[in-house]
Amino acid sequence: MSLVDSERRVLSGMRPSGRLHLGHYHGVLKNWIKLQHEYECFFCIVDWHALTTNYQEVGPISQHVMDMAVDWLAAGVSPSSATLFIQSQVPEHAELHLLLSMICPLSWLERVPSYKEQQDRLPGRELATYGFLGYPLLQTADILLYRAGLVPVGADQLPHIEFAREVARRFNHLYGREPGFELKAEAAIRKLGKKTATLYNNLRKAFQEQGDVEALETARALLKEQQSITLGDKERLFGYLEGGGRVLLPEPRPLLSEAPKLPGLDGSKMSKSNGNAIFLRDSNAEVEEKIRRMPTDPARVHRDDPGNPAHCPVWPLHEVYTSAETRAALQQGCQSAGIGCLECKGPLIEAVQKELQPLQARAADYQDNPELLRSILAEGAERARNEARETLTEVRLALGLNYR
Ligand code: ATP
Ligand code: MG
Repeated sequence: MSLVDSERRVLSGMRPSGRLHLGHYHGVLKNWIKLQHEYECFFCIVDWHALTTNYQEVGPISQHVMDMAVDWLAAGVSPSSATLFIQSQVPEHAELHLLLSMICPLSWLERVPSYKEQQDRLPGRELATYGFLGYPLLQTADILLYRAGLVPVGADQLPHIEFAREVARRFNHLYGREPGFELKAEAAIRKLGKKTATLYNNLRKAFQEQGDVEALETARALLKEQQSITLGDKERLFGYLEGGGRVLLPEPRPLLSEAPKLPGLDGSKMSKSNGNAIFLRDSNAEVEEKIRRMPTDPARVHRDDPGNPAHCPVWPLHEVYTSAETRAALQQGCQSAGIGCLECKGPLIEAVQKELQPLQARAADYQDNPELLRSILAEGAERARNEARETLTEVRLALGLNYR
């Protein structure tokens, strides 16, 4: 068994809710595509999460899962760089969720803001369910199962990551405190060798007495390099640094994404349920039609009324898609009524079509070859399960569930 390098491991999930749009591409997928080359990434299609709100209408979920997988691959998520898989194909998520449910206070779940917010947002659905209340804990299990140290999120997801950290801390506190922990930790320090042991002790002291966070980081890096001590001893020494027990489940940190929300066809945030989205697999004709129908500055009633890009819902999309030079010319043309709105939309339509062209070519490859898609997902699930099993072996051991 190997010690997982949590600091290098990323987990992210998306609920399968239909085809993906440009908002998903700019807000999430482009970031993943960068991360997959920098970290060990696990990208999970969280179909059980879809059930928490859509349990009354399960029919479309499997198609949504496949559509999502195709869209991820089309966008450039690469199965040779990242692990792509479907949550329900790794049943270990459910086992860890169950075990964590034993130690998770009800009040922690009730105070997660999305619990009440979503119930208000989706009044037609009966969401006073056990499963829906437990949603953040399932998400916690998704992360902790891979001992992922980093979770890419937007600001709205921060409370969920904080929740996951609290659950991990509580778990480590309850089960990482073995009898004689301090003695075992001190014995482990001696196994580091004299020089490293002194360094470890000094760094630990600097952190515990002066709160020196850099010393903590240095000590962690030092421990990671150690080849001669066992995994158990490493976990003890990680925990001992901070004054706790063994770190069985490392606390994840948010990797805050700075991508601003992409506006949709009406100027408000692009979102499937707002009906204002351009989908990654919209044809050129659909893209053109959608953008041509977009409202513009209301002051431009007639072709020769001058307008102001600041009042035009099309402009924020230009800011994402067209060059500064093009925009300067368009702005001038709009303010002087030198060009009409359709003319202004031309370069935007072209830019969106051009961006989508390679994605759609890749999407077609997978749509034409469902076997390939299935094998990528099966392989991803296999890789994910191997990691998940390692974590659960330790978790079961810590809970005394190792029967021989
Ligand atoms: P719904 O309408 O059901 O809320 P949606 O289209 O908004 O669906 P979500 O499932 O809510 O999509 O979003 C999935 C992820 O994509 C989230 O991380 C969210 O922040 C991101 N995302 C969605 N829309 C945008 C957008 N317009 N710009 C940037 N990121 C977005
Ligand atoms: Mg949304």
